[in-house]
Amino acid sequence: MLQLDPAERARLWDRLAAAIEEYAAHVDSARVTPPMEPDKIRELLRGVRFEQPVPPLEALDFAVRNLWRHQTHTPHPRYFGLFNPAPATMGIAADALVAAFNPQIAAWAHSPFAAEAEAHVIRALGERFGFEREAVDGVFCSGGAEANHTALLAALTHRFPGFAGEGVRSLDSDPVLYASAESHDSFRKAARLCGLGTGAVREVPAGNDLRMEPAALKSQVARDRKKGLAPFLVVSTAGTTNAGVIDPIQPLAALAAQEGLWHHVDAAWGGAAALSPKLRGLLDGIEHADSITFDAHKWLSAPMGAGIFLTRDPSILSKTFSTPTAYMPKDASGLDVTDPHLHSMQWSRRFIGLKVLLPMMAAGWDGYAEAIDRMTEMGELLRRELTKRGWRIVNQTPLPVICFEDSRIPDVELVVQSVVRSGEAWISTTRLAGRTVARACITNYRTSGEDVRALADSLDKARRQVLSSAAPDRE
Ligand SMILES: *Cc1c(COP(=O)(O)O)cnc(C)c1O
Repeated sequence: MLQLDPAERARLWDRLAAAIEEYAAHVDSARVTPPMEPDKIRELLRGVRFEQPVPPLEALDFAVRNLWRHQTHTPHPRYFGLFNPAPATMGIAADALVAAFNPQIAAWAHSPFAAEAEAHVIRALGERFGFEREAVDGVFCSGGAEANHTALLAALTHRFPGFAGEGVRSLDSDPVLYASAESHDSFRKAARLCGLGTGAVREVPAGNDLRMEPAALKSQVARDRKKGLAPFLVVSTAGTTNAGVIDPIQPLAALAAQEGLWHHVDAAWGGAAALSPKLRGLLDGIEHADSITFDAHKWLSAPMGAGIFLTRDPSILSKTFSTPTAYMPKDASGLDVTDPHLHSMQWSRRFIGLKVLLPMMAAGWDGYAEAIDRMTEMGELLRRELTKRGWRIVNQTPLPVICFEDSRIPDVELVVQSVVRSGEAWISTTRLAGRTVARACITNYRTSGEDVRALADSLDKARRQVLSSAAPDRE
């Protein structure tokens, strides 16, 4: 029953391929956003009963129909959202292959090709960040949050040799880490998961330009040392989630070195700038980082989830994660290879690297540079369109994240919700410098000038509605 017969499989694969192609070819014609109808979806699922099996094609169609209907279509060119990509075609093919071959990548001996392919991609990307090829090490993760958690564990292990064995209770002073007030919230969660608690994260003030201020970091570290705390890690963000801002990596790297702190650069989204000769300079200094978080499922357009932790300390992952295990395969013992589970917080693990390798092979560095530059140009176009129409841009970044407001509108959330409900586009709001602002990001390699202008039109329409309903009644 779990293996379908060849004729049924043939029909299923045909239908599956057709459904995938139909989505890729026609997602543009869908509403970007679904109605919010939890009761309706639960009702629908109540009809799914496992007492009576249904034909496989019917089950497949059920999933396809409801994914079309009940999903914010992140692959839509008018999804201007939170770094979620339209998946690269070769990434979709890769993920399908991985499900079919189901390589178990915990042990090298079970998946020699998968393990070496991941190591190859990691070295290639590490080199693009300026790491020396021989020193590059790293591991594929579920996403940026796991990569950042890995960074905390690596930094603790590096700074406190007793940490791996005895844990935080063996430390004679409290560890603290530093990240800007604009850094990703995954660091607070990771601090909790490491047993430090969120109080161990020192939020360093960001200046008016939303970049971390090295001078503020320096004095905070000095104050903490005076109090008897143990600073161990500085996080720079290269492309903040809110506003696409890049911390001053070079001075922060120098300061971290001077203070003897591990320097991690969270480049989950913005790291893709390393693949564009035009943008590469924005990341200057990243080559001195001890470790980097980079999400291929963001600007590299890999399907979810493809996080990467990179480091130029080839021994730190083993020190952090390796534990002796009797039952793991020994078929490769004596060879110069690494078992991935000794480098990761995961054990059984999916072959994540293939959905990065295949698009990289098919697009090449030039293909990626072109896509990244084009999305950056679309960001500039959106900035120009919004400015022309009387919106004020409130963030400064060369990357395609645009935060904006209109001082005549006290509650920009109303405008954004009106756009989202119209189904014409998806954008969001966030808080910057104490104010709620609208936020749009170019995150899709297919977003065109026409899509950008359509978003601006949609915003104009929503703003008119909000302004007219707020205006005094003249009737
Ligand atoms: C998205 C993001 C993360 C979290 O990554 P996930 O892949 O969502 O787990 C961390 N840091 C930054 C800067 C991000 O943009």
